[in-house]
Amino acid sequence: MQFNSRYPSLSPKLYHQQQPSPLEGAKAGHFNESLANELNWSEDDKNNWVEICSGQKTFQEFKPLAMVYAGHQFGQWAGQLGDGRGLLIAQILDKNNQTIDLHLKGAGSTPYSRMGDGRAVLRSVIREYLAGHALNSLGVPSSNSVGFTSSTQGVQREKLELGAMMLRTSDCHIRLGHFEWINQYQADLLPEFTQKCIEWHYPECLEADQPILAFATKVIQRTAIMISHWQLVGFAHGVMNTDNLNITGSTLDFGPYGFMERFRPNWINNHSDYKARYTYQQQPSIGHWNLWQWLNNLVPLCPQEFDKEQWKDALAQCLEHFEPTFLEHYKHGLSQKMGLPSFHKDSFDCAMAFLRILQSEQLDYTQSFIRLQNKEYEVLKDDCLDRFQFENFLAQYQAIRNGQDLTELDAEMQKINPHYILRNHMAQKAIELAERNDFSELERLFKLLSQPFTKQIDLEKSEDLAPLPSDVPEVIVSCSS
Ligand code: AMP
Ligand code: MG
Repeated sequence: MQFNSRYPSLSPKLYHQQQPSPLEGAKAGHFNESLANELNWSEDDKNNWVEICSGQKTFQEFKPLAMVYAGHQFGQWAGQLGDGRGLLIAQILDKNNQTIDLHLKGAGSTPYSRMGDGRAVLRSVIREYLAGHALNSLGVPSSNSVGFTSSTQGVQREKLELGAMMLRTSDCHIRLGHFEWINQYQADLLPEFTQKCIEWHYPECLEADQPILAFATKVIQRTAIMISHWQLVGFAHGVMNTDNLNITGSTLDFGPYGFMERFRPNWINNHSDYKARYTYQQQPSIGHWNLWQWLNNLVPLCPQEFDKEQWKDALAQCLEHFEPTFLEHYKHGLSQKMGLPSFHKDSFDCAMAFLRILQSEQLDYTQSFIRLQNKEYEVLKDDCLDRFQFENFLAQYQAIRNGQDLTELDAEMQKINPHYILRNHMAQKAIELAERNDFSELERLFKLLSQPFTKQIDLEKSEDLAPLPSDVPEVIVSCSS
């Protein structure tokens, strides 16, 4: 590994250095060797992956640390939070010379653990491991994981479960909530911290007239783009608190997430979200709300040449980039999913008509796009109670496609419509077997989800392609992890 240890150059008030505390009976779970290769891991590093991913081996070049941050959770100010069960154990350069954080989740309690035990259970580690892999393979900016280990140590949740650790990778673990903590508790650190965020993550903004405004605009745009990816692929993050969004717009901390099956825009996967704040359809506006909260923390950075009110206006104007950026990417992606030209004035309307059918007929989001792609119009129509509605849609759809370059539109569809997503019941099956020490299903899903856009007849099972039948109880997903 080639180290680029930069977070420890910040004020020690921003973190606490400590070693991981390994679990009893740590043992191999799964290793993502191709990611390790991307990260320039040596043969020696790879041979030691179990020790590294279980907190038994750390590095001289980096003293592990827990970060402090704060946040708004479910819309309420939650005060000080921080890495309560994870440690940053290294910052290394990948093959593209980009700095990547290695963060060991489940590594024991820290000064920021509050009432928690500092641990993660095998169930939630497998969910995060598979989802990170799935999102990356789908082209959604997201954290990923090099590997995870299981153990023989019991960890108490609603029931006793097995403890596990996961080595997460992300281009950034600086959350919106970092700024909230600094502004609230240590405001003197704000200028230097912001400067470092710009240098490390948005160096191009240093050239701008107003680097802070350029930085804010970029953070806002990247977050909007990330959320447009989620909407297109049908991903519900589940817990979009300000401490779970980072400043580079790569998906992070998606514990109670879900990939949407039947198209239900008001679907909430997280059973702990009693007020349905984080439904699929609300993700764009929650992203906007979080960024608005975040911008407040940049108010004290008012440069001399602005008066305070002008500066607040200038910050508010940065947020005006959110909606157009989101819509541009979402509309473009949706046209691509539909096989319609994005420049055509009726493409978006037609896509909305298709989504209305999926919603009213409760059809599977992922499979319906594949059927459209395969031109299985009769199959789609047969699934509809309101066949007239479908025929109307199809007439409009074919009218728009008539006379277009269909070879190109069809090729575009194949690049964006996945055959496979990680349905809750798929992850659940892999977890139940892994808890009995059988990792074969996890291995199968890992392979399947490596190439979601390619039909893999030999690897797929019929259950991968459809929601559970409605008489089978759905998998309960909550914040408990
Ligand atoms: P999350 O919603 O998983 O992102 O967690 C919110 C906060 O609670 C973060 O500060 C976590 O580090 C902390 N936390 C969650 N679970 C635990 C745990 N089992 N032990 C200690 N801290 C935890
Ligand atoms: Mg979190």
